[in-house]
Parts: sequence; structure tokens; C-alpha cells
Amino acid sequence: MSIEVKKLSKTYGKQVAVNQIDFKVNTGEIVGFLGPNGAGKSTTMKMITGFIPPSSGGGTVCDTDFVEQSIEVRKIVGYLPENNPLYPEMFIKEYLTFMAGLSQVKDIKNAVDHAIEITRLVPERHKKIGQLSKGYRQRVGLAQALLHNPKVLILDEPTSGLDPIQVSEMRHVITDLGKEKTVMLSTHIMQEVEAMCERVIMINRGTIVADEKLIELKSNHQSSLEEIFKKLTQNVDPI
Ligand code: ATP
Repeated sequence: MSIEVKKLSKTYGKQVAVNQIDFKVNTGEIVGFLGPNGAGKSTTMKMITGFIPPSSGGGTVCDTDFVEQSIEVRKIVGYLPENNPLYPEMFIKEYLTFMAGLSQVKDIKNAVDHAIEITRLVPERHKKIGQLSKGYRQRVGLAQALLHNPKVLILDEPTSGLDPIQVSEMRHVITDLGKEKTVMLSTHIMQEVEAMCERVIMINRGTIVADEKLIELKSNHQSSLEEIFKKLTQNVDPI
């Protein structure tokens, strides 16, 4: 088991962002984490990666407790956060070398070259981050997440705001990565889920509303993923 989440909750003041959720992600799976804006996806991902503590509940990544051993968990997980914070004044290689140093990567040169190659950054590798298009900046974020060769990747909207060609490139990169790693990714693009994910976890207003193999989900509802998404995430009352 790569990820196991048990009764995980996060409350911000009176706002319940994540409400006692349970799910598992098996080793080697590519799982799509879907939900409307404000459903609790980023909050869940931040808790699993050890970046914020839960209000209650918890879980493990590769049997390491993400609440009690959050530093250890960061060594196992590669995390691409939604806003992908980078240093625009730094060159790609310089930035990745710096980040690899912070992560105490052993063979920094090899790790940086490998991350640049996997994320198909080679043609742009001599540019400053601030000179890159959004798609390539996303790839720098992904390259950073890969530097320590993590077993599990948590990607928060990795293709948000990219043009169709960049989306397709990113999709190939993630699919390749999924051959070796467990991947959990959030997205609002249903075609992306259809193209990459074998399983779907859907969250609405902090609660899991679906957790199934994509093929079974579609067969059980006898409709498209988009229709299923609309049906399961309709908000009747304001929170
Ligand atoms: P999106 O698809 O828009 O990125 P999301 O599913 O990732 O949304 P979250 O960002 O996890 O949703 O937010 C869940 C809820 O928690 C929202 O109501 C949001 O306003 C609230 N929230 C998130 N972070 C904070 C915070 N730091 N302080 C207060 N409320 C927060």
C-alpha cells in the first residue's frame, strides 16, 4: 500500500475543509483526485505530504506516518503544489541544483540531469525560470519533485492553465512516471483522467463521494465521467 488515509479531517476556524475521509492508493496506481473548487483536494494533498497537520485523523505513505514523521514522509514523496512556487531569477539547472542540495540529494549532478531529461526540459535547460512559458515552469516544478527519486508523486493540478500541446506533453511525462511510481493527481480536466488514471477518488465539500476504478464507475453510472462528476458534486446548500 502506498497511501493510506484514515478519518482525516482539517478545519480552518469554522470551515470544515476535509471531513473524516478514508481512502487507499495501491502501489503503482495512477489515481485521479477530483472535486469542484473548494472541495478539499489541495488541503488533503498538503496533509498527506506532511506540509500541514490534520485537525484529526491521519495515515501513512509507504508505511510512514505523515503526521508523526512528516520530515521522513517528505523524503518519500514528490510534491508539486498547486501554485508551484519557483525563483524566476534562477536558471533551471541552478535552481534544481540548489533544491537538490536542500533535499540532501547525494549525487546532485546526476539527479538534476535525470530530472531535466524525464520532464523533457532539455531544449529549455539554459533559460532562466522567469523566461519560461507556464508549461515549462510546471515541468520545472515537476523536475524538482523528482530530484530525490520519490516512490510516490502527489501532483496538485499539474496541467492547470497549459495549452493543449503542453497538456499532452505533461500527460506523457506523468504516464511515463506512473510506470515506476505511485501517482495521485488532482485535476479539473476529465479527458486527462480518462487518459491517465485507472482509478478515481472524488471529493465534494470535504467528503469522499466516489472511490472506484474508472471503468467500474462509468459502467455503474452508465454515463460519461463529466456527467458522473456533475451528479456527485452538485452542491445543494451553501456550506
Ligand atoms: P481548488 O480546486 O479550487 O484548488 P480544492 O479542492 O483544492 O479547490 P482546498 O484548497 O483544499 O480546495 O480548500 C478547501 C476549503 O478550505 C475551501 O473552502 C477553502 O476556502 C478552505 N481553505 C483552504 N485553505 C485555507 C486556509 N489556509 N485558511 C482558511 N480556509 C482555507
